Amino acid sequence: MNRRDWMRTFGASGAAALPALGSAATLETQIVRWKLRHTWTTVMSSSEFRDNLYVNFRAGGLTGVGEGAPIVRYKENATSAQAAVESARQLVTTADPAQYAKIMSRVFERLPGEWAGKAAIDIALMDWTGQKLGVPIYRLFGLDPADAPVTTFSIGIDSPEVTRQKVKEAAPYPVLKIKVGLSSDEATVEAVRSVTAKPLRVDANEGWTDKEVAVRKIEWLAKRGVEFVEQPMPARMIEETAWVRRRVSIPLIADEACRHAADIPKLAGAFDGVNIKLDKAGGILEGYRMIQIAKALGMKTMLGCMISSSVSVTAAAHLSPLVDYADLDGNLLIANDPYQGVEVRNGKLVLPPGAGLGLRKKT
Ligand code: MG
Repeated sequence: MNRRDWMRTFGASGAAALPALGSAATLETQIVRWKLRHTWTTVMSSSEFRDNLYVNFRAGGLTGVGEGAPIVRYKENATSAQAAVESARQLVTTADPAQYAKIMSRVFERLPGEWAGKAAIDIALMDWTGQKLGVPIYRLFGLDPADAPVTTFSIGIDSPEVTRQKVKEAAPYPVLKIKVGLSSDEATVEAVRSVTAKPLRVDANEGWTDKEVAVRKIEWLAKRGVEFVEQPMPARMIEETAWVRRRVSIPLIADEACRHAADIPKLAGAFDGVNIKLDKAGGILEGYRMIQIAKALGMKTMLGCMISSSVSVTAAAHLSPLVDYADLDGNLLIANDPYQGVEVRNGKLVLPPGAGLGLRKKT
């Protein structure tokens, strides 16, 4: 950017050139329904579709798009997320959108819970600001897209026969994430291993409540080439998980036990790393903060996602150059994604070069 362009973008005072605000800025919410390619089964639920929330923030001729996937476990749903975002409309539409960090700290102060709703606002504002400044979000954080990691592709719980079929369909993905946590764990993993020698990561989704059972299952998995196990025991069983960790040979990663930044320090002895999701954190900024806190504690970092369209998954992908592991496949599990954003090539996340999230409408 030359000096003239810089002045045009930022104005002589150094502040971003802003649209006429107030009546000019609008915030729209919409509940969107994603159809799943396969019935999705984990320990927690089984479903054919997912209802998420879209947020469109419009100002100065630009539209920032955000998405939140409400998490049932935390008593969120699309309607409650929508109501929460609507309640923040005045705050969001009368502020300077390029001051997204200030806006989000106000939203966090005023809005209890509703992390997916918060994430949708944060993503829309950062998409808008990136577009306004003409840079991709990863550049706002000073990141190199070439550092984006490989992503796992997730295989939900199913019969051995369907599991084998799903693994075959996952041929383009070099690392698989297998959901376990039911009595069929061994059969599921044997079914996967019967058709592939790829590295596996396993997510138990809090499925094992007995620490001796957890140790036995994890060591059995370790012998079958599993790299790490996510959330083996219930989130509240941190001490038991620390006991398990001292007896197993592969890393443990916290997911359900790691919702917010303040959770991370108390997980440091029980887990080797944390799975950070924008829908749990409340957006990109808070996700970034959680990654930094985990790194400061010497923990591994992973970015995960819920079942979402390319809006939410691409938002997380913009932070992925920072993390050790990525499980950003939520958009690949749905059949009616309206956007094209992050792509997976040879298993690696490829960030779109466009401004903001860099999304394109699918035609
Ligand atoms: Mg998980």
